[in-house]
Amino acid sequence: MIRLTINGKDLELRKQETILDAVRSAGFDVPTLCFDERLDPIGSCRLCSVEVEGESHPLIACRTPVSDGMKIKTDSPSIEAFRRTLLRWEAQKISISSYLGEPDKELHQLLRAHDLQPSGKRRRDKKLDISHPLIRVDMSQCIDCLRCVHICNEVQGQFVWHVLDRGTDMHIVPDSGTTLGTSSCVGCGACVDTCPTGALTDRSETNGSSISRWTRTTCAYCGVGCELEVGIAAGRVARARPVIASPVSKGHLCSKGRYGFSFNHASDRQERPLAKVGRTWTKLSWDAALDRCATEFQRISATHGPDALAVLGSARATNEENYLAQKFARVVLGTNNVDCCARVCHTPSAAALKTMLGAGAATNSFNDIEAANTIFVFGANPLENHPVVGARIRQHVLKSGAQLIVADPRLTELAEAASLHLRLRPGTNIPLLNALANVIVTDGLVDHQFVRDRVAEWDEFGVFIKDWTPERAEKICGVPADSIRQAARLYATAKPSISFHGLGLTEHTQGTEGVMALINLALITGNLGKPGTGINPLRGQNNVQGAAQMGCDPSTLTGSVAIDERRALFESVWNAPLPRSRGHNLMAMMDEAAAGRLKAMWIIGYDVLPTLANVSATRRAFRNLEFVVVQDLFITNTAKVAANIFLPAASVFEKDGTFMNAERRVQRVRKAIEPPGEARADWRIICALAERMGHGSRFRYDSSPDIWNEIREVWPEAAGMTYERMEQQGLQWPCRSQDDPGTEILHKSEFGRGPRAALRRIEFQPSPEQVSDEFPFLLSTGRNLYQFNSGTMTMRTANRKLRPVDVLDICAADAERLKVKDGRPVRLRSRYGSVRMKAHVTSTVGPGELFATFHDRRIDLNRVTGPFRDNIVQAPEYKVTAVCVTPLEKTAVAATKSQP
Ligand code: SF4
Repeated sequence: MIRLTINGKDLELRKQETILDAVRSAGFDVPTLCFDERLDPIGSCRLCSVEVEGESHPLIACRTPVSDGMKIKTDSPSIEAFRRTLLRWEAQKISISSYLGEPDKELHQLLRAHDLQPSGKRRRDKKLDISHPLIRVDMSQCIDCLRCVHICNEVQGQFVWHVLDRGTDMHIVPDSGTTLGTSSCVGCGACVDTCPTGALTDRSETNGSSISRWTRTTCAYCGVGCELEVGIAAGRVARARPVIASPVSKGHLCSKGRYGFSFNHASDRQERPLAKVGRTWTKLSWDAALDRCATEFQRISATHGPDALAVLGSARATNEENYLAQKFARVVLGTNNVDCCARVCHTPSAAALKTMLGAGAATNSFNDIEAANTIFVFGANPLENHPVVGARIRQHVLKSGAQLIVADPRLTELAEAASLHLRLRPGTNIPLLNALANVIVTDGLVDHQFVRDRVAEWDEFGVFIKDWTPERAEKICGVPADSIRQAARLYATAKPSISFHGLGLTEHTQGTEGVMALINLALITGNLGKPGTGINPLRGQNNVQGAAQMGCDPSTLTGSVAIDERRALFESVWNAPLPRSRGHNLMAMMDEAAAGRLKAMWIIGYDVLPTLANVSATRRAFRNLEFVVVQDLFITNTAKVAANIFLPAASVFEKDGTFMNAERRVQRVRKAIEPPGEARADWRIICALAERMGHGSRFRYDSSPDIWNEIREVWPEAAGMTYERMEQQGLQWPCRSQDDPGTEILHKSEFGRGPRAALRRIEFQPSPEQVSDEFPFLLSTGRNLYQFNSGTMTMRTANRKLRPVDVLDICAADAERLKVKDGRPVRLRSRYGSVRMKAHVTSTVGPGELFATFHDRRIDLNRVTGPFRDNIVQAPEYKVTAVCVTPLEKTAVAATKSQP
């Protein structure tokens, strides 16, 4: 116990902390300038200095630890005068225009509070740098507090900002030595966020002059679920900044969360319902649009039966809206034909986790990153696709010396930071994972206690795995046997070991089995049910976990339970019978449409056409449908090709509700602005159409919390999660009662399926998609840091300038052999279609392998991806397509479009 006095107030502290922490916890404050709670104390500005009895000089509060018996004064006349002198000095470096233009910056606020005017007479002679599309650099306003340098190093781990020279010559430059636009900056905006002056600012619409309010909400993009505050100016989203107290992002965002909001106000945002006649869209009233939808759905149901209809929920809609979408399908349409985009990404993960462990979701939390001694990243590129988690992983490795194993065909940035990079051939996950298990078993590294207590089918597995030697695997996957041995030993001995996996594991014909093989590793090493362990799928979209968990899945209801398991409960709460027929998933819906049996679809917030593999097959299926309703922010590619009716939806910034992130955390989404024109929240549209179709009494809700309370009735594992309890940090399910704190780690003492989980014996079945003389390359597809999926949102933001077009990554040797030049056009052709795009010669892909992103509508990369699917849940095999590449003249690209 440490006893001390602050401004005459006695204090007892249980743990060692700094004077600044003690002062603040005692209810006093001292101004700070170089301090940021996300960073180790810098202590350069001295503004937080306090008097301590017995000390000849003021002590710097942010980096001086308290000691027993200290008598601290924070507000004596001499210390106030000292601070004023320091601030007056800093005021001379600030220009009046910057002071007025950036009123929220900390130094500007301090000057106002101390009634000091900036003079700018000692400001530096530095040129304005506007080379970066997102960040404005005006080092004439820099006060050398070094916060930008520290936050880039300590939080993002990018090391962009550097200090040159010393004393009065000291200045800060990006790692390019010239402009930020030519540096390695990834546009996370952390330096802008921490900068206390106008030196680093957002290049946003308002530049901070007229933000009238800030609203806390959850990011609209990936499944990390970072929290942000959006600043509203003149009714528009004008800025975003991280929420420091967020349990997930801890005061950090990536470039999408931070700068990807201007799509809300894009000129082509749709504000009224539309009907398409021929190629022409005509405006409709909501009454007319809903009447048309109701009439067509009823006509088709009467003629062909309810299973001729289908609904797709949305990973960008809230939990409440997805709950209503599947309730609508089952209650109003009378079909289990309901699914969402989880089908094409992590349904394999959910299926494997549910089958083996009993819960189809991440076993642990992001906070387990920092508890792990080994991190195994399999088939994921989190620095680009889940950037805040990627940064946390890299920082933990850099700071604590944790081991990082990356299994990926590509040399990603994270792989460069890894202790071991297992650079396997695309499509060979199973041999690699089996060989890792083989080494763990044959080297005697199994956690026998865990296996005895909690694992089944151990003997059978032991026999099976003997044949999967590293040498056998090496021949198939290309990873040296020694590397496989090293990785297995690290994972099994440098515990606790946690794994994160992505679509490089799931989007294969053996995707579900790949996840099962990864779970085998956790089971035999006891890396489950404890801090710093587990199997954790990195979910792609902000609410993809929630959409499926809410029941947008043909075979499960809300809470991810089989329909017959909770049929009675749902029928009683919904006061309606549930359909008995087996529903079709998204891929089967396409097959049914192609076969002429599915006649109508309602597609909510999902651009299906360009994002499903094998575009030409998807297009043919859509053309066979009689009636399609697309509900979205913009006329998407799907709407252009297939929709009869377009319903304008509110964006994530324009409604209330909740999202569920990749660690099962349900967090609040809060309305910050009004939807434009007549656009409506998805849940209001669903309820209005249900009313039109005679089910108004079952869809009568006043608000999102009203819907959520019904969800709690049908999903006992979430019964304790009220809106009130989720206001600050969200809650992780299961959370069964109001005094249940939620669950950070699943399967601590037993699995959802019972006390034991059975190991799986998984034989390797190579994909039917193989290279040939005609198609000698294997193409993998994925996302990049600045864009998101089909680009519906990000391509309408400033992020577009950072990565405007998809390119084809090819290694130098292949490029030279094919006479392909960097930046020059090529034709990429598979057995299913072809596209034209520019080549990017890089060492990130190996010989015979190619990689490209699929964000650019003009390229439409999924024209080349194929028809094969996961052999259990039917997720498409995006990661392996045999292709050929031929160089093209530049003019040929301009003159011709990609061909199906
Ligand atoms: Fe949004 Fe994901 Fe970026 Fe976080 S990491 S800001 S959730 S896109």
